[in-house]
Amino acid sequence: MLVVKKFGGTSVANKERIYNVANRCIEEYKKGNDVVVVLSAMGKYTDELITMAKDINENPPKREMDMLFTIGEQMSVALMAMAMANLGVPAISLNAFQVAMHTTSVYGNARLKRIDCERIRNELEQHKIVIITGFQGVNKYDDYTTLGRGGSDTTAVALAAALHADKCEIYTDVDGVYTADPRIVKTARKLDQVTYDEMLELATLGAGVLHNRSVELAKKYGVQLVVRSSLNTNEGTVVKEGHKMEKMIVSGVACDTDAARVAVIGVKDEPGVAFKLFNALAKANINIDMILQSVGREGTKDITFTCSTADADDAARIISDNMECQSIDVNKEVAKVSIVGAGMQTNAGVAAKMFEALYDANINIRMISTSEIRVTVLINEKNTERAMNAIHDKFDLGNVS
Ligand code: ADP
Ligand code: ASP
Ligand code: MG
Repeated sequence: MLVVKKFGGTSVANKERIYNVANRCIEEYKKGNDVVVVLSAMGKYTDELITMAKDINENPPKREMDMLFTIGEQMSVALMAMAMANLGVPAISLNAFQVAMHTTSVYGNARLKRIDCERIRNELEQHKIVIITGFQGVNKYDDYTTLGRGGSDTTAVALAAALHADKCEIYTDVDGVYTADPRIVKTARKLDQVTYDEMLELATLGAGVLHNRSVELAKKYGVQLVVRSSLNTNEGTVVKEGHKMEKMIVSGVACDTDAARVAVIGVKDEPGVAFKLFNALAKANINIDMILQSVGREGTKDITFTCSTADADDAARIISDNMECQSIDVNKEVAKVSIVGAGMQTNAGVAAKMFEALYDANINIRMISTSEIRVTVLINEKNTERAMNAIHDKFDLGNVS
């Protein structure tokens, strides 16, 4: 059996944790299995690298950021191989170059295109544990790239797919996927199972426990994931294909405080305006999320949308350079709060119940968007924690239904 095990930053934060991970992997190896380990940078090392870079240059070139980032993961894999050697087990560390993990060329947000498995297979045949850097890749210019923050999960799933692994386990600092971030909602409950679609929505809407592209890949290639803790042996959460897994209409609540609202006031009420606006933003690679257009009055209308906080000022500048409008209002003090659940497709009144929870908590809703399996509201950022708890309580997510 071939097993891919991924360990996040907190799981390899110090010597004791590194040995803990080494021992867990060796346990699997001693069962006679092939073991491929994917690691993140130690603790908050990636954040520290960002601080270091910004100290040198407020606006560092993206290529050089990726060059810098790669050392974090490289440090973890080398130290892990040393720990395993010390425990008498043959192990080898490999970075993205050595494996040949080909990505697109976008620095800081590259996508994996192809992984060569030959080197990994050779090392496994020699009965070594193979320890691979998460998060990084190599583009067509032979430069290092990274997959976006939290991207080591995606490396692990991509490797599991490419190697046709029998198991892909994501080890982290919580026991699994919860009904809400357990750091924000104390009554959050661990889910035994969650579907790919629900997990994809949760991850995209701010549940940082899994990188959303890892879930996308897992669904595409049918890689069943287990999310579990590296600090205990509790059973984790299984992420897999399926319909409504539990008798719950709503599976979880997620929040994303990295949201900004851009209101474009008084654009012309005529054909082509939305195209012009969003086309200009698309050309600048700015991702748009919720969109709201007001009813036209006296020849003008307003278009409001959300994007990431980092893109908001650029978005406003691009719009004012490209089209006529009366004014543009940027608000970065907003957050998105969402409920997700495959069960809501067939249940009326789910959105109303969420809005009631917010009404009870006296929290104003600024924008709303929905899909088949989610409802998202935009609220003032300062209310995020209260909103999460109010909604979680309203749907009684802390109790098994
Ligand atoms: P790692 O370094 O192991 O990749 P992350 O910090 O990326 O760990 O992800 C784990 C964190 O995700 C948890 O500590 C938790 O605060 C957060 N989180 C957010 N939403 C959820 C959720 N629904 N279930 C579990 N954890 C969540
Ligand atoms: N070290 C990277 C980050 O902190 C990747 C990861 O942890 O998944 O974002
Ligand atoms: Mg992570």
